[in-house]
Amino acid sequence: MTEVLVVGGGPVGLMTALGLAKAGVNVTVIEAEANIVYSPRAIAYAWTILPALEYFGLLEDMIAAGHTTTERSFRIFRTNENIVYNHDVLAGITDHPYSLTLGQDLLAEVVLKHLERYPNATVRWNTKFTAVTQSSHGAIVKADTPDGPTEFTAKWVVAADGGRSPVRHAVGMSLEGFTWPRRFVVTNIYYDFAKYGWDSGYLIDRKYGTVIYKLNQEGLWRYTFSEDAGLPLETVSERIAEFIKTTLPGDKKYELALSTTYAMHQRSAPRYRAGRVLLAGDSAHLTNPTSGFGLMGGMNDAFLLSETLAAVLKGEVGEEYLDRYATLRKKVFEEVTSPISTGSFKLLFELEDEATMEKIFTDLRNRPGNPEAMLKWHMLPSGLETPSLLTGLTYAQRLGKKPLPGAAS
Ligand SMILES: Cc1cc2nc3c(=O)[nH]c(=O)nc-3n(C[C@H](O)[C@H](O)[C@H](O)COP(=O)(O)OP(=O)(O)OC[C@H]3O[C@@H](n4cnc5c(N)ncnc54)[C@H](O)[C@@H]3O)c2cc1C
Repeated sequence: MTEVLVVGGGPVGLMTALGLAKAGVNVTVIEAEANIVYSPRAIAYAWTILPALEYFGLLEDMIAAGHTTTERSFRIFRTNENIVYNHDVLAGITDHPYSLTLGQDLLAEVVLKHLERYPNATVRWNTKFTAVTQSSHGAIVKADTPDGPTEFTAKWVVAADGGRSPVRHAVGMSLEGFTWPRRFVVTNIYYDFAKYGWDSGYLIDRKYGTVIYKLNQEGLWRYTFSEDAGLPLETVSERIAEFIKTTLPGDKKYELALSTTYAMHQRSAPRYRAGRVLLAGDSAHLTNPTSGFGLMGGMNDAFLLSETLAAVLKGEVGEEYLDRYATLRKKVFEEVTSPISTGSFKLLFELEDEATMEKIFTDLRNRPGNPEAMLKWHMLPSGLETPSLLTGLTYAQRLGKKPLPGAAS
């Protein structure tokens, strides 16, 4: 019998388990794969999540495994204009005026390394969830392993098993919302962008809109664009070559390290709690990744859920706090994650009429010279955090810092 069974050893499952383990809860993670899964997905995390990572003792290791970025570039393809946003306006507001860049597999590895220090936490690899049954006291989870089927008994189950979430399906829920008619084409390429003065950021254009992010110091960059989801997948490599040839600065002699495609969604489960099963991360909600809010939202689910669930298990608060977790995190998805990510998607790929385009470009150009507007823009991802349901404090406040100006409460 484990107190909490977490299904999914992705970044959200491991982060939830770490929060629970630190609180003294007996936790088991089951993961279908043999190791942390590598897929070219999350890489960027805004400054607003760094206090929580610091509080959990993870930030130093994460910065060492990745790198920090102080500038973000908005390039307008048709005018070749480069508008650069920095983090200067955050001086005095945070100890961490930068964003973190780190592949989500490396981020998960850091979390796993910390989790392995806790004797009350276990990770079972090659263990694939197949079914769950619930009673008023707990749940029985069935799973397949290389040695045959097995069973776990737990008081609570966390579904952190990603967008397809077999656990969510097992409790009878599917994601509501819509799928964009465009797909994301994700590549990792070796190219010396820095030699041509290019930083991480957006290249804005209705046809050639691209997200470009430096991945490491060895010249590897993430280069991502979107295309009509109806185009044939067999010929995507031709379109990758055409995109890169058209948009790259300099001699365009790049090396393609990998490419893949993703459907893009704005979808949420109708409820993030089904009895003894709590949903977190992509199992609960999916967003297009243009703002980089997917995993940041998922990590904030993990922070809030682990603290609340630990308090319920210790008898400090009643189960109704888990309903508050479920309601508040869904609200964050609906009121922050999804609308902001939708706005970024439209900015990057769908600006059509001249008047709207000019207004948006004017705002982009003027913001760096207007500290108040710049601060407002930097504060946008602060809405992803839900303050503690036990104390009302944000992670910055728990570290003894002043609350962020205008932070969600
Ligand atoms: C192209 C792209 C770029 C992105 N960029 C960003 C970004 O820059 N910043 C950001 O914040 N977010 C970003 N995201 C979103 C981010 O990738 C996801 O939000 C994140 O992966 C969610 O983590 P998770 O742990 O909830 O799910 P996952 O990472 O999908 O992990 C789920 C885990 O559950 C396991 N699992 C599945 N089924 C079972 C089963 N039956 N039994 C046991 N285990 C199971 C899987 O093997 C997997 O390990 C991006 C997404 C995409 C597609």
